[in-house]
Amino acid sequence: MKRFSILFSLFLLSVVIFGGYLTVSYVIQPGDNLYDIAKKFKVSPSTILDWNNLSNPLKLKTGQQIVIPQPEGFIYTVKQGDSLYTIARMFFTVVSDIMLANELSSDFIRPGQKLFIPQKSVGKAFNTEKGYIWPVYGVISSPYGWRIHPVTKQMSFHSGLDIAAPEGTPIFSSTSGTVSFTGEKSGYGLMVEVKSGNNIIRYGHLSKITVYVGQRVERGTLVGRVGSTGVSTGPHLHFEVLANSETVNPLALLPSSSKVYVLKEGVEAAGGE
Ligand SMILES: [Zn+2]
Repeated sequence: MKRFSILFSLFLLSVVIFGGYLTVSYVIQPGDNLYDIAKKFKVSPSTILDWNNLSNPLKLKTGQQIVIPQPEGFIYTVKQGDSLYTIARMFFTVVSDIMLANELSSDFIRPGQKLFIPQKSVGKAFNTEKGYIWPVYGVISSPYGWRIHPVTKQMSFHSGLDIAAPEGTPIFSSTSGTVSFTGEKSGYGLMVEVKSGNNIIRYGHLSKITVYVGQRVERGTLVGRVGSTGVSTGPHLHFEVLANSETVNPLALLPSSSKVYVLKEGVEAAGGE
């Protein structure tokens, strides 16, 4: 235990608030790396990156304090208009799991309330009828192919599928693979690129990236959060797939939209590009 000095400073407070959930504060030791810490605490490196603003996860700073949820999971702050149903869909899970994890006796929730979403519940409702899963719960705001560009108003080719969703909505890896790029990329803003066989999957306009280059991701690994970085008219995910370096229509790879958590088709009041 010498290498792992664990401070349970938030322990009692968190237990009081969330019942079955607590946060562990961990101080980075010389020689630590994210992968080993994640393994030690039985969480995904993505969870640690999501909970802590680590600018370069491959170069952790000795002495830096990070927090790790135990068990693994997410905190969601309820917003006006949310229901347990919509929150469950955002995490591709079921209402009963959220009620159980938060000891809720009714489905009444109020704005500002913090809910714990256990990792083991996330993905319960993923539709896996095809090789890819829908990466985010939102509204298809711009299809793949030729269309009027929302910013330039000119006819242009859209290389991916836009799914509008509120800023901060979790984005899950659509398929398994290895992260090949993270960072700023011209019009894409903050982007994650995952290599999966001969395919490259791009997640653009993120507000936050929760994977690092070289990380192995599975279907459902949190790759980041929805944002509006780069050329964008509002918070949305630009989801792009390249097969042998050519873009393809992501809809061909995804489960049919009638069976998944996509709210509706439309472009009104939704981000694009
Ligand atoms: Zn787009």
